Amino acid sequence: MERKRRMLRRAVGCLLATALALALAGQSAVDRDAATVEGRPGAVKLSGYYDPARGFLEATARLRFTGQAAERPLWLANELRLKSVSGGAMTQPPFSSESGVFLVECPAGGELVLDYGGRLSPGLQALPAEPVGKKGADDCRILSHVMDYYPHPQGDFMAMDVTIRVPDGWSCLGSGMQRSVVNGSGYDEYSFSHPLCKGMTLVFGRFRPLGLLAGEIPLRLYGWKGLDLRTYYSEADMAGNAGFYSGRFGPLPVPELTILFRRGEGFRGVSYSGLLVLNVDRGRKGIDPFDRETALETSLLAMVDPATDLLAHEMAHQWWGGVVSWKECGDTWITEGLATYSSLLYLRQRSGEKAYQKVCQRLRDGLERYAGMGVPAGGAKLKVLFRDPGVYQALAYVKPALMLAELADARGEDEVCRRLRSVLESRRGRSLSGGEFLDLLAAGDPVMRRWMDEWIFAKTMPPYPDKKN
Ligand SMILES: [Zn+2]
Repeated sequence: MERKRRMLRRAVGCLLATALALALAGQSAVDRDAATVEGRPGAVKLSGYYDPARGFLEATARLRFTGQAAERPLWLANELRLKSVSGGAMTQPPFSSESGVFLVECPAGGELVLDYGGRLSPGLQALPAEPVGKKGADDCRILSHVMDYYPHPQGDFMAMDVTIRVPDGWSCLGSGMQRSVVNGSGYDEYSFSHPLCKGMTLVFGRFRPLGLLAGEIPLRLYGWKGLDLRTYYSEADMAGNAGFYSGRFGPLPVPELTILFRRGEGFRGVSYSGLLVLNVDRGRKGIDPFDRETALETSLLAMVDPATDLLAHEMAHQWWGGVVSWKECGDTWITEGLATYSSLLYLRQRSGEKAYQKVCQRLRDGLERYAGMGVPAGGAKLKVLFRDPGVYQALAYVKPALMLAELADARGEDEVCRRLRSVLESRRGRSLSGGEFLDLLAAGDPVMRRWMDEWIFAKTMPPYPDKKN
């Protein structure tokens, strides 16, 4: 039992450590009229009230599991107290748990009903709270699934429904699909659902709709009053980026995407399945893209410009993170490496071969400084082991991306994309280990598989063995 608890604690630490820029999951495209979680195997249904101003949450979670009756670990933020459990027996009460994990005996095919509530400290927000603007327009609160704002079995993809009431004056966006907004007396009630995700996230603020961009994947844009998006993005770029990935990687689990633009310090963002939250720099004119600490603005990952790099990276997480995800801490290179490679693909299409080659060379030069310090399979632990964030960026983001660029040089970009797409198609809604991912990518080619092992599990960067084969 002690060993089990230690494992759980480690997993929780890992999950929190990778809060930024991760995403969720899904199965084939669904329509708004599809059934909700009723009748689906493995589901979370959440219903509650949240006051963003006080950080106060009160909710009921209904969990249904497939398979046999079993004792299962469930995660819930320390700040939240479990009030009652029905439909199952709690074998380890949360009152003694500092890790935020408790164990519940779950019945086979039955429903576990958990009432809980409390205040969530802002420090756990996936993005740091911005200073409140003069009119409070940017005062944006996030209930991210990595904050464990509802009890859940970590790592599993499940169907999910969320219904949340918020006091008048707040707007709410959620991952998945918005199903309804009901105006009540003193509150508004928002409902969201997702057919198969690793968790759902809610964002609260005082933002307004900016419009709908038509395209392969329609984009619903939100932001603060008076935002002129064209300062940062062209409509063609936004719709083009989503359409480009869709053409390369196939359908998403959601029929459209929501993008919320926030005023922030620097360009940074986070991607949840169906919802992107992008910070655009409030003082853009003076920005030096190479003089920022955030991942996408350092010279190591810079490709086009900070705004475009941010969009291309977070949009790619809709597939790499949203359709398939990583299993353990050491596997985060899958989603970060693939989001980086996807950005390279987009750059090549958008800016041409010369720009693509130039950026690949710069990434190679940047990687060489760090290649001897670890391996991509070190995953999120690299962030803890090294103070320099460049190590994690170089090894988990850049190195897997350059491996695929090298493979594309040898076998052609179309073949690499075909292989990537088949990984997505065969494992929709699954969390993969690094080894599993490489097995699927190599698809039975032992030479390719061994070569990829060296890039991911060793400190070397060998050229592809037979460029003509
Ligand atoms: Zn990322």
